Amino acid sequence: MKISTRIPALEGGTPTKKSFLVFGRPKITNAEIREVIDTLKSGWIGTGPKTALFEQKIASYTNAKYAVALNSCTAGLHLSLLACGVKPNDEVITTPMTFAATVNVIEHVGAKPIFADVDRSSMNIDPKNIEKHISSKTKAVIPVHMAGRPCNMDYIHRIAKKHNIRVIEDAAHALGATYKGKPIGSLSDTTVFSFYVTKNLTTSEGGMVTTNNKDIADFIRIYSLHGLNKGAWKRYSESGFKNYVVEAPGYKYNMTDIQASIGLAQFKEFHNNQNRRKQIWNIYMEQLKDLPLYLPSEIESNTTHAYHLFTILLNLDSLRVNRDYIQSALCAENIGIGTHFIAVHLHPYYQKKYGFSYGSFPNAEWISERTISIPLSADMSSKDVTDTITALRKVLTYYRSHSGRRGKNLQPSLSNILQTHH
Ligand SMILES: *Cc1c(COP(=O)(O)O)cnc(C)c1O
Repeated sequence: MKISTRIPALEGGTPTKKSFLVFGRPKITNAEIREVIDTLKSGWIGTGPKTALFEQKIASYTNAKYAVALNSCTAGLHLSLLACGVKPNDEVITTPMTFAATVNVIEHVGAKPIFADVDRSSMNIDPKNIEKHISSKTKAVIPVHMAGRPCNMDYIHRIAKKHNIRVIEDAAHALGATYKGKPIGSLSDTTVFSFYVTKNLTTSEGGMVTTNNKDIADFIRIYSLHGLNKGAWKRYSESGFKNYVVEAPGYKYNMTDIQASIGLAQFKEFHNNQNRRKQIWNIYMEQLKDLPLYLPSEIESNTTHAYHLFTILLNLDSLRVNRDYIQSALCAENIGIGTHFIAVHLHPYYQKKYGFSYGSFPNAEWISERTISIPLSADMSSKDVTDTITALRKVLTYYRSHSGRRGKNLQPSLSNILQTHH
């Protein structure tokens, strides 16, 4: 190997890849383009027949009775809390190892987020910790299927039933996942999917709530469009003009037919795209195992992982630099990477409001300072996959520490965050 190919680009070497590999790049083909053009030419580009069709597809795919398409997963989580009757000063239990949106919506309804620490190996909320945090104020729990790995839903439902609390699944990562033979989407009061750009099915921006509860479905539909009565989106269609009535002070959370048309084309290819993701996943599992990192834990039997994120956890004891430094180095190799996630309780807003600090949720923090998501997308070529592996190998080999101790000037990134914001 030439010397220049062994030195990280960040230290003056040659980047592994000539052009930048975008993290989470969706697979967009002519099918999406044709479907969007069809909508653009149809005369109706708002919420309409394609949105309704996309809802039907997702409802039947997830085995749910009802599906309501929205402009984001965040909107779906917000409306789920309202539909479940969560009110100011109620408590909602969730995981600190998630995107801030999961927790922000609890703030939006004026309730108090209560974190329950995760299990390090699944990265999912630990049901034992949920139980510890239940109080007379607990109204709901929001488990997150981290990276696409289903949570222990039997355990969570058992606790929820015992204490009469609602279950809202944040399934932003989990379209295509199954739990004990059942698709994620049909198990809880509501399940909320995301179709954000980097997710395993995208509508550019978008989300969907699935539920078996008609009242919840009706509530969410009405609240997603100004509180107009059901079917109000049809008011300009050939089915006859009807004036709308407002039944509630709703929000503006509806999905448009332009978004739905991307979703419909994506959905047709979803099975194939998931297979490609699984293939890449298996290559990574095989080819990264000798590096100073922890690979995703085994997938439990009788569950299907949604293969949304391939998340490695750095073995910091064997490296001279911290996670952020490794991320910069990978970026310099032209490999786009992600962080899923900085534990929510460490963000300044939550630290300040609730007095959290480093040490509050040790497992989430442990993951938070080690995690890197590497590219996993159906759009990746074999070369993209090989380049990602080559870049990781190059970077981790270069920064490997043989003394077994980290350099003192390069502490774990979370401590840096805390120092900045204390
Ligand atoms: C992406 C994501 C969301 C938010 O999804 P949007 O569609 O962008 O609102 C919520 N929770 C988790 C865990 C996510 O990864």
